[in-house]
Amino acid sequence: MYRGIAVSAGVCRGRVIVLRRTRHVIAKRELATEHIEPEVRRFEHALVRTRQQITEVQRRVSQTMSSSEADIFDAHLLMLEDRVLIEEVIKLIREQQVNADYAFHTAAERYIGVLEAVEDEYLRERAADLRDLTGRVLDNLLEVKEQFDLKHLHEPCLLVGHDLSPSTTAQLDRKFVLGFATDIGGRTSHTAILARSLDIPAVVGLKTLSDDLQTGDYILLDGYNGTVIVNPTDQTLFEYGQLAKVKASLEEKLREVQHQPAVTLDGKVLHLSANIESQEDVPAVLAHGAEGVGLFRTEFLFINRENLPTEEEQYQVYRKVAEALQPHPVIIRTLDLGGDKFASHLQLAQEMNPFLGWRAIRFCLAQPELFCAQLRAILRASAVGNIKMMYPMISGLDELNQANALVEKCKAALRAENIPFAENLEIGAMIEIPSAALIADALAKRVKFFSIGTNDLIQYTLAADRTNEKVSHLYEPTHPAILRLIKMTVEAAHANGIWAGVCGEIAGDPVLAPLLIGLGVDELSAAPAVLDEMKYIIRRIKLSEAQALAARALALDSPTDISLHCIEYALASAPSLFENKVDPSRSGT
Ligand code: PEP
Ligand code: MG
Repeated sequence: MYRGIAVSAGVCRGRVIVLRRTRHVIAKRELATEHIEPEVRRFEHALVRTRQQITEVQRRVSQTMSSSEADIFDAHLLMLEDRVLIEEVIKLIREQQVNADYAFHTAAERYIGVLEAVEDEYLRERAADLRDLTGRVLDNLLEVKEQFDLKHLHEPCLLVGHDLSPSTTAQLDRKFVLGFATDIGGRTSHTAILARSLDIPAVVGLKTLSDDLQTGDYILLDGYNGTVIVNPTDQTLFEYGQLAKVKASLEEKLREVQHQPAVTLDGKVLHLSANIESQEDVPAVLAHGAEGVGLFRTEFLFINRENLPTEEEQYQVYRKVAEALQPHPVIIRTLDLGGDKFASHLQLAQEMNPFLGWRAIRFCLAQPELFCAQLRAILRASAVGNIKMMYPMISGLDELNQANALVEKCKAALRAENIPFAENLEIGAMIEIPSAALIADALAKRVKFFSIGTNDLIQYTLAADRTNEKVSHLYEPTHPAILRLIKMTVEAAHANGIWAGVCGEIAGDPVLAPLLIGLGVDELSAAPAVLDEMKYIIRRIKLSEAQALAARALALDSPTDISLHCIEYALASAPSLFENKVDPSRSGT
């Protein structure tokens, strides 16, 4: 058995095709002077050929997947046009009078080495992208043919490789590829992202698997637990067969509740909505029966691009999302750049503590022009759809007042221009900084709703960076301090006649759903794919029992004890949801 990192859920088994790394034989050849310029042209021709191939893959991907998958290849095209790299290669060919493949290989390996040495998972994954691209250029220079025609497979198989490049992954014949496994890779690698999009089970980080297997070997791949079993025994296959049956029957049960209301056994109706990052998430929102969008993370419109989105471009996106989800509400969160989300074109100075720095509403208030373009776009879209708006990272009243003053200014300008908008657009505040929870009573008098951003609230309350795995043991959603802040926020909301929701990741954890409901939360907003499970458990609990659970939890001092109480209640209420799933050692999400 091999253990790796599970990056795409599901179990599959079958014969493997092992994609061996093409080992390009790069020999250094000295060129006579008259052969130098033709060699430069040969190199340029290989670049053009590679560009054509990538554009073709991109075209095919955009026909079968969303445009965000096709965008991955933009990064390859950008690398291919990197003048620094190209000039360096041409300089090597001319000055050292060497062959193009040798010059290109030398220069590209130096770049890859630099990227691989960086302690940043994202940049290391870009090294994999550059290696993918380098392989393609060398294939063209050396006229190497592909080992397997992955576009035309004839029977079901699992693919095993040292690394599957995004361009290979994107070309796969989906009918026949049951799953894939690689020696290296991480959760944020583009190959992992594509696996999830294609809904193909995948495990990465299996170290020596591709060297140890031969094409034709039989394996079982478990994309839930991150394991690969070579030549599974009958007993193992039987156990996995049982697991598959359990999963199939759960999926059936989940489908049954998909379009039912999220109501507890004793009649408490919860509002269950979806978190989205782009317009492309709308079909999933509809498919999972969400009652609109509780958090639209608009910053994803601003990153991975060369310039700022215009007011018109933003308006079109907000309008289309709101129209598609009518009559349900769409809560648009104003720009939350900073922290771990950056727009490269804005070239913001690096900060010592980006999560404590110039991010979200702080950044927007300092950039009124950029902020007003977004506010105008949201206001305009509110004339056509059921739109609400909320501000991220509110720390005190001043920020709320300043943001509201800008909204009023934008409204006045739109009125003067005779552009329609909803006069009564509801504005809410995210509660994700402890100071905001502590003054929730004051904030509640000035907004129409609260949305508790527990991802940040936990990191700021417990002083544990949400992206730093070294302090992840301190990042505890069931810490008593978090429970008290949520309770305080909800009580302040209700005392002032407004509602309070949760849109952090814990809102998508069925184990914690009863606790949040017991604390009085009115709305839960989470990724569309987890909403079925949330609805399933909500329909199997009682508000009165959830309240008793919350009261017990509030009287406890230990995050682990609180977590265990939650697990116990969730297991008792909806056992089938947790078969093969709950690890009793977990504390929280
Ligand atoms: C949160 O902080 O909980 C939240 C929903 O916002 P984000 O994860 O985008 O910071
Ligand atoms: Mg946040």
